[in-house]
Amino acid sequence: MRVTCLDMEGVLTPEIWINVAEATGIEALRLTTRDISDYDELMRHRLSILDANKLGIAAIQEVIGQMQPLPGAAEFIAWLRERSQVIVLSDTFYQFAAPLISQLDYPTLFCHNLVLDGDKIVGYQLRQPNSKQRAVEALHALNFRVIAAGDSYNDTAMLGAADRGILVNPPQNVVAEFPQFPVVHGFEALKTVWEEADLELK
Ligand SMILES: [Mg+2]
Repeated sequence: MRVTCLDMEGVLTPEIWINVAEATGIEALRLTTRDISDYDELMRHRLSILDANKLGIAAIQEVIGQMQPLPGAAEFIAWLRERSQVIVLSDTFYQFAAPLISQLDYPTLFCHNLVLDGDKIVGYQLRQPNSKQRAVEALHALNFRVIAAGDSYNDTAMLGAADRGILVNPPQNVVAEFPQFPVVHGFEALKTVWEEADLELK
């Protein structure tokens, strides 16, 4: 039995924080896990910028509400769900992801929670540290074999723990640092490499 674990941002949807940066004109919010590999450092940076600019959850949810998944993402998820169990493993937050996950027909999502004080985002609660890798390990303990796909630094432990790991649309620095993973661009190429991995695991 196989489970496919997919990263969300950069694989199925655009980067939420980059869209927030563009919609608000706050350039400093453009940094992502592609730029800063320490997630806690990145999040503390983001929350301090939001605080300095008096940006709350409602303003950010309004931006996310205008976003759409990457072209072909919903069709890809539907294709994949006919062939494998699918879990989206993301370092985003349930409060952010809802409008995008609905457009993907609600695949299972494991992510994190924001800590709110009214409209203000005062912190965040990781469901657990190294949550993507831990999810793959837990699936192994349940006797599943795992194919994982992601685009960035925060996915590489998940890809390494999986039976087959695939880099999707990665930046060049990630490709250079993690040459052990096959690299694909776009859903058609991902389907092909996924089918090969699936055959190998049968
Ligand atoms: Mg990503």
